[in-house]
Amino acid sequence: MKIPKHKNPCFDCGALCCKGVAVPISTPRSKSDWDEIRWLVAHERVQVFKDHENDWLVEFMTPCEKLDEKDACKVYSIRPKICRDHEHDECVKNGEEAYHKIIFRHLEDVDAYLAKRELKKLKRKK
Ligand code: SF4
Ligand code: SF4
Repeated sequence: MKIPKHKNPCFDCGALCCKGVAVPISTPRSKSDWDEIRWLVAHERVQVFKDHENDWLVEFMTPCEKLDEKDACKVYSIRPKICRDHEHDECVKNGEEAYHKIIFRHLEDVDAYLAKRELKKLKRKK
């Protein structure tokens, strides 16, 4: 049975999940981990985030070449397993909690976050 268009959870989304490649990275702990994040997000269309499950990922914002002009998958029946397994109720559009707990899009975002965190630490010590 075909789902009515307006009841399709992906209706009107614009295929957000097909427009980037997110790869898990280790939780940043050391100064060099944070510096690596600064380097990553100094590049165009690269962002680093902590998701709603507290996993850290680097995302390259580049659309899948198998999307057509209407944002539909041109290879739907043979799409990769990672696409088949993608849960639309926990995705960047429909996730119940805020999907990105922390997100850095530019080097300056990382510096501002670290400065704020340092300030909080100092306040706690007083
Ligand atoms: S799974 Fe989520 S992000 Fe992907 S197309 Fe559907 S609603 Fe959009
Ligand atoms: S193969 Fe299809 S479902 Fe998978 S990312 Fe590309 S367009 Fe999306």
